[in-house]
Amino acid sequence: MAVGVPMSDSEFPCPECGQRTAAPVRARWVEELQGFRRNRVCGQGHEYPSIERIEPRAFLSKTRIVAAAGTRMYSTDQLQSDLSLKLGPVLSKQTRNAVVERVELRLVMEWRQRRAPKHLPGSLLSQTVVSVLRDYSDERELTKGVADSLRRSHVLYALSQEALEFKQSTDRNPVELSGDGFDALPGILEWLVEWYPRLGSGSTRHRTPHYTGEPRTDRWHTLRGDAGPMPKTLLRRVITDHHTVLVRDDTVDGANIEVRLEPVERWDPIPFDNDIYVRSVSRAFAGRPNYEHLTRYSTQWVYFALAGQDTVRVSDLVAMTTQCLRRVDAVASLRWAIIAKNLTPAALVAEIQGMLEWPAPRLKFESDAAADMRTSQQMLPGS
Ligand SMILES: [Zn+2]
Repeated sequence: MAVGVPMSDSEFPCPECGQRTAAPVRARWVEELQGFRRNRVCGQGHEYPSIERIEPRAFLSKTRIVAAAGTRMYSTDQLQSDLSLKLGPVLSKQTRNAVVERVELRLVMEWRQRRAPKHLPGSLLSQTVVSVLRDYSDERELTKGVADSLRRSHVLYALSQEALEFKQSTDRNPVELSGDGFDALPGILEWLVEWYPRLGSGSTRHRTPHYTGEPRTDRWHTLRGDAGPMPKTLLRRVITDHHTVLVRDDTVDGANIEVRLEPVERWDPIPFDNDIYVRSVSRAFAGRPNYEHLTRYSTQWVYFALAGQDTVRVSDLVAMTTQCLRRVDAVASLRWAIIAKNLTPAALVAEIQGMLEWPAPRLKFESDAAADMRTSQQMLPGS
């Protein structure tokens, strides 16, 4: 059966006499059937129902998504790669694909009309992803691990939007995530507690800064081109179980031998891969205003901070990036922390309180690149 395309009445002849429907009949969306049901009457007066099932992916294939960045056709591939960038390390590909299917189904169900929408706002698409992630995480048959990663994804994805929506039942204004996001921190905290009410008890603690005055702002004059020297080798800490042979008593014939399984710490060198690192930082900035610019300069700042070290521990690289992001953009810093520190929504509450109580000096990037004609265009995309 053709799907997604409205069918003409001639495709539903009467099962008894084969005649067509006598008059047009109104369709009714039936959720369990995922389609439209009509109660038809043929020319001879036989009554019979017809059901047009909707296949969401095909249904949406002619819909345009309207966003500030421009209008584009709805694309499953694009939604999948969006989720891969924003949620990749947290949610498996299989679960991400299940999320995409649920998003498509929900868009169709909430549209409730026989013909697909011509246009949908991009914000509706991203809000649908956020609410699907939230609802999915509450499903009973999930393991705790999957449910946790869905909750972390819910917060991660919500923080990649321009604003955080409170529940529809509450009449509150969305939290705008504009600028560098620091002013939005109290709102983000309230949003988290609204969606995860059990976190509420600990979130009321004192959260004014421990020192007075505005946090210091450092201005960093960015380097020309990619002048920040990158490390060559990363050291990754690996713990393995090793069989250890112990000779207890070597006075006699060495017969008293014991084999033990002991954890052994090792440092594995891996070649530094700039693309992988830049992608992990751009993941934190995804959805932020000016995100390419901030990703580029943040990685450059970290390289500069590590300059002179060919070999760097992975943990040092992560720590330096955490420091940088905490100073540059509050929202990106939270997204980075959810991934790099494996934070659940509960742990994120403490992270936000910490940022409010101990505000880090701000870091602003000032581009000198205009002086360098060779790189000025790529340094300042869109300017
Ligand atoms: Zn009939």
